[in-house]
Amino acid sequence: MRTTQTREGVGGFTLIELMIVVAIIGILAAVAIPKFSELLRKSSEGRTKGNLGSLRSTLSIYYADMEGNFPSDDLASLTAGGKYLTAIPIAKAPSYHADSNGVCVSLYNAPGGCRLGLGAPALYDGQLGPLWVYWEQQDQPPMFGVPRNKGDIWLGCQHTDTKGSMWTTY
Ligand SMILES: [Zn+2]
Repeated sequence: MRTTQTREGVGGFTLIELMIVVAIIGILAAVAIPKFSELLRKSSEGRTKGNLGSLRSTLSIYYADMEGNFPSDDLASLTAGGKYLTAIPIAKAPSYHADSNGVCVSLYNAPGGCRLGLGAPALYDGQLGPLWVYWEQQDQPPMFGVPRNKGDIWLGCQHTDTKGSMWTTY
């Protein structure tokens, strides 16, 4: 008798209980999934900022090493023989562009990558694959708020990150 009662007590969920559980799971997912995807975006942004920082530091080291000269190519001289970098790091602009470690150079005769001319806009958002833009030519006035001095590198993306700042301002 007692056993039967216990069984009845735990004998499964009613339809209404199941519906409540499903509804709660739905609400939790609706809250958690956007937060999770924003977290992923933030981590990509952080990684891109870090990679940009390491490219800038590497350029400074190269500059000092080469007695005042920046690379005059698409940064292949940074990775040649693994002396400064083993590879150009990845640039990410999540939800706008595919990940890329291509370098767009401000020189028509630079080998590989894309090429920017002096008269061309400094930013090629949405037009070219590579996101890194390396300014190899002589100093030029800033364009769209982006400094363009010899040896500068930035992210050629005018989309905004999760904090609303443009990637070019990194
Ligand atoms: Zn963009």
